[in-house]
Amino acid sequence: MRASFRVATVFGIDIRLHVTFVLVLLLGAWPWLVWGPAGGLFGAVMSLAVFGCIALHELGHSLVAKAFGIPVTDITLTPIGGVAVLKDRPKTPTQELLIAIAGPAVNVVLAVLFFAVGVGLEGLPGLVDALQSFGREAPRAEHIWVMLVSANIMLALFNMLPALPMDGGRVLRAVLSYGLEPERATRIAAVVARVVAIGFVAVWALSEHASPMLPFIALVVYFGAGAEVREAKLTRVLSQIPSGDVVSPYAPRFEPGTTLGQAVMVLQVSPLPVFTVEQSGRFVGVVTADDLLEAIRQRGAFGYVAALVRREVPVVQATDSLDVARSKLLRGPVRAVAVMRQGLFLGLVTEVELARAMEVSDRLQAKVQRSGWLERVDRS
Ligand SMILES: [Zn+2]
Repeated sequence: MRASFRVATVFGIDIRLHVTFVLVLLLGAWPWLVWGPAGGLFGAVMSLAVFGCIALHELGHSLVAKAFGIPVTDITLTPIGGVAVLKDRPKTPTQELLIAIAGPAVNVVLAVLFFAVGVGLEGLPGLVDALQSFGREAPRAEHIWVMLVSANIMLALFNMLPALPMDGGRVLRAVLSYGLEPERATRIAAVVARVVAIGFVAVWALSEHASPMLPFIALVVYFGAGAEVREAKLTRVLSQIPSGDVVSPYAPRFEPGTTLGQAVMVLQVSPLPVFTVEQSGRFVGVVTADDLLEAIRQRGAFGYVAALVRREVPVVQATDSLDVARSKLLRGPVRAVAVMRQGLFLGLVTEVELARAMEVSDRLQAKVQRSGWLERVDRS
């Protein structure tokens, strides 16, 4: 059960609203309620319009990502802004730079557009007049343009602050990545992000007019930066390990004729989310633990695995790195990748193999650090 619901689909991308989005209407209406219910309505409608601009901002990121062949899961709008969820990360600094910049660029275009419409309808003096009376007098039609232009300028500027995982932070990381290792670039960008996050809290504490959402955004940035560092480390470690090295020859395998009753016995002892299905040693496809459990719940133990086999399984070669395997796993229809060597099926890479590879790498690193320390002690 997700805490969001779909409101539209644009270019094949679902746009979802988080349930807490109702807060946006309340917070939007609040300052305008001094002019009665009509003022409140103006505030609520305006905040909806601003979130429409945020949705277009996210669509900017999403369409550039799609142009680079990166599938987009969906766009979700929450009270602290929007998120476009990509199924994979950008492959080069240039891709990351262009995807990140596309969002604020949309807001710049919108600001110019709304300014032009405002000037067209009200004339420049009318718009200047509306700017001066904005928030001081009861809301009028001219105030719509002031609100939309200023909101889009703010959105462009705010998102370009160098606070990973916000757009400006991604731009900073991408620019640093031209000259540094990706992980090092991410670590530097994360330090900058945390300084900015602390700055958000300071601004919120010291200013009367700061948005009440600022501390929440600070938290998202602070922990989001940490997640980006972990992701960069994961990428480095996985890109050093060949997929063929982690597949387990002992992973349980099913045949199409295996009954669901037999399969459930295996499920009880195996943590794997996906299993190989083969016939006489030949790879047929995979079956997921979720599908098996669902089928057993519906049909009982007497069905066969054959009905649940998924044949569209992404393939990597044994020499391809685990990072390549992970990328295909995240994009693919099932959470598994088949590893082949010279046309022969070796086994599957699932999230379990990826997690184990990370765990082993962490332990090895700890060991290397310990022995390095001992060496220094010995020499002294
Ligand atoms: Zn953005």
